[in-house]
Amino acid sequence: MTGAAETGDGLPADVAIIGAGVVGTAIARALACQDVSCVLIDAANDVGTGTSKANTAILHTGFDTVPGSLESRLLRRGSVLLADYARRAGIPVERTGALLVAWTPEQQGELPAIEDKARRNGVTDVRRVGTSELYRREPHLGPGALGALEIPGESIICPWTTSLAYATQALAAGARLRLRSRVTGIRAGTAEHQVVTGTGVVRCRWVVNAAGLHSDTIDAMMGGGAFTICPRRGELIVFDKLARPLLTSILLPVPTARTKGVLVAPTVYGNVLLGPTAEDIPDRGDVATTGPGLASLMDAGRRILPGLVAEEVTATYAGLRAATADRDYQIRVDPARRYACVAGIRSTGLSASLGIAEHVTVLLADAGLRLGDRPEPDPPVMPYIGQAGTRPYQDAARIAADPEYGRIACHCERVTRGEIRDALAAPLPPADLDGLRRRTRVLNGRCQGFYCAATVAALFGGGAPAAAAAVRPAAAERPPAEAEPA
Ligand SMILES: Cc1cc2nc3c(=O)[nH]c(=O)nc-3n(C[C@H](O)[C@H](O)[C@H](O)COP(=O)(O)OP(=O)(O)OC[C@H]3O[C@@H](n4cnc5c(N)ncnc54)[C@H](O)[C@@H]3O)c2cc1C
Repeated sequence: MTGAAETGDGLPADVAIIGAGVVGTAIARALACQDVSCVLIDAANDVGTGTSKANTAILHTGFDTVPGSLESRLLRRGSVLLADYARRAGIPVERTGALLVAWTPEQQGELPAIEDKARRNGVTDVRRVGTSELYRREPHLGPGALGALEIPGESIICPWTTSLAYATQALAAGARLRLRSRVTGIRAGTAEHQVVTGTGVVRCRWVVNAAGLHSDTIDAMMGGGAFTICPRRGELIVFDKLARPLLTSILLPVPTARTKGVLVAPTVYGNVLLGPTAEDIPDRGDVATTGPGLASLMDAGRRILPGLVAEEVTATYAGLRAATADRDYQIRVDPARRYACVAGIRSTGLSASLGIAEHVTVLLADAGLRLGDRPEPDPPVMPYIGQAGTRPYQDAARIAADPEYGRIACHCERVTRGEIRDALAAPLPPADLDGLRRRTRVLNGRCQGFYCAATVAALFGGGAPAAAAAVRPAAAERPPAEAEPA
């Protein structure tokens, strides 16, 4: 999509949102559903390809945020909104609860303060769990745990479907999506702004900066420059589905001032995650995993859940937190410049996304953006890719009506040809096999595409010979796969 006209009548769009991660897509959804004409711009070829695809995939309650902070407020609100939205949109969520485990007397001594903090954050259903109950509930836990704090509301969620659902709903409500369009400059004006991208100029009245790791660069283009993003890399290990019976809850460590620490969590795809690390790095694009990082995770995993490290590793990946010097979210709206900065969404943006979008919408309206008053439409119903519910291959009635749902293309993840066909025909289709993976789980299982890559690539349209090049090297030919399945 190129050209200057952003609306049917040649007028500038009301709002250009830069960044189609979970935060930008949530904002686009909120605004488009309020009759605001929006253009959602991203440098990548799909939505949700930045930090939003490579995180720990936990729907946090916000129990451990700084009470009174903006993050605390928006996370608390966002997690409630997202739990409800996910249920209606078919986004996989499992309310596993979490156990924050103390391993030393010092950590045990911190539990009352964490419990008090949770209550001050409005998370009032937390409770202390003694050693015997803890081991009864998590018999595979390593020796030496002294007790825990239970946070029943902590859940696991599919991060991929979340951004896709927001974007799908934004498009249905009239938003325009401009992918492969890196923003290289902004000509700020009194009547309109001109956002210069690699595919042309986008005219708009307001700019919303949701550019994640590059939000400081966009902020500088709008005359800001008040903060700098310092990427903090988090590496994670995905274990095979055979590890899933080893735990029932998310196993959290006692957090430090700098990081939430290394956790073990189930995923909604039936795997187990171990991570993340926390390492400040200079390069905003460096999502490589490292030997020392993975080794440190294995050490931590051995202590928390000794049986885990004996299980097969399916994949490893890393994501970058958009950290700033200020711990809190950097969200502000400048009415004079018609500019909203939504930055510093470091460790909780997936969970808080709907709270952030609601907050930004209110700030923009207070600053003069005119909103429509139509009732909020129902969310789209997304293809269900979780492990806990019924997938198409398990649904006899669906297979009887359409035999393509009975023809499996990816055997590790039980993805059918019908689901691949549907993903390709969706309003927001994948641009490549990675995009297809985030929509269906193909290529995501223990063989990492070794067996199904040719079939999947042929279905995608690349043909069998393209498969080898398009898909990562086969699992047998490399160390633990570089991927980002949460
Ligand atoms: C290791 C790790 C674990 C985490 N775990 C959790 C968790 O369990 N739960 C939770 O709630 N949160 C978690 N988070 C945090 C969460 O993932 C982030 O807060 C969230 O994804 C941020 O979303 P975003 O939309 O702001 O950024 P992104 O997803 O990075 O999106 C920004 C987008 O802007 C685009 N962009 C940037 N510059 C430009 C430009 N110049 N032109 C056009 N487009 C541009 C990028 O391509 C990108 O798509 C975790 C983060 C990490 C790193």
